[in-house]
Amino acid sequence: MIPDRLPWHDRQWWRVERDIRAARVPHALLLRGAAGGGKALFAARLAAALLCRSDDPPCGECDSCRLCAAGSHPDRIAVAIAEDRREIVVDQVRDLIHTVGLTARFGGRKVVVVDPAEQMNRHAANTLLKTLEEPPGETVFLLVSSNPALLLATIRSRCRIIDFPAADPGIALAWLRGRVPDPAAALALAPGAPIRAVELSEGGLIEVRSGLERDLDALLSGGDPMAVAARWKELGRATVSLWLGDVLAARLRESVLGGADAGRQGAAPIRFSRLLPMLDRCLEVRGGVLARSNVNEQLALERLALGIASEGAACRSAGRSKA
Ligand SMILES: [Zn+2]
Repeated sequence: MIPDRLPWHDRQWWRVERDIRAARVPHALLLRGAAGGGKALFAARLAAALLCRSDDPPCGECDSCRLCAAGSHPDRIAVAIAEDRREIVVDQVRDLIHTVGLTARFGGRKVVVVDPAEQMNRHAANTLLKTLEEPPGETVFLLVSSNPALLLATIRSRCRIIDFPAADPGIALAWLRGRVPDPAAALALAPGAPIRAVELSEGGLIEVRSGLERDLDALLSGGDPMAVAARWKELGRATVSLWLGDVLAARLRESVLGGADAGRQGAAPIRFSRLLPMLDRCLEVRGGVLARSNVNEQLALERLALGIASEGAACRSAGRSKA
């Protein structure tokens, strides 16, 4: 499928459309902006438009558009991180340079999409430089990057840059309505990034996160830590530490913005000074996950639940002695 134009990309699309109509398309474009905003979809639509053979690109109906929609256009070349690698390597760039040197199968443009462009290693990026500056034939390079600071300056300087700022919240919410069950909750998890919001919603992570939020409130109001830990074991410590950390970080932000004793509706107020050690404990578990340390999963989660429960108990007794 050729992706639709996303409503928060109007300005960027209008600009490339004008260039296509005026036959003034630069040979290298860098699409940069935070992850989850839809840059890859924009690149896919732009690639189709550049290869489309009608006057109204992308028409969705010509041979070129059909092949693009099927992901099998011979003149559209995708460069990404191979499954068994962690970066884009020089052999991939050498293959690419060879391919763009051949005649286009449709006799028109070739479009190369490099995503994520910042994941080209230094050797790969340096090898691409000359071709990027003077691509053979009518090749157009679309470099997509969520982390453009990691790109070589020499790569950046050879591209026309299109910026993708965070999506306007009103536009994003309107677009999410009808696509996800709870647009506001999804967007709260991925501010400015509606595509990420859809992914999180589809992955069931919103339910996971709200479950962890309820667990936290249960622990803070004297609930049984062992019962919570048993539930957490089902989720696994990777999921728990990531999303509980997210919940705690959000509470920290609220407590900073709303004052030291800021409460939540229906939840016990927690002080900033108590939240920090809770987040600390959670990050410790997270660190273990990232370091792939071999610990007893259940024990780690029980310790985390007990630790949070004891901070909650201290918070409640401080509240009572104050009263
Ligand atoms: Zn077409």
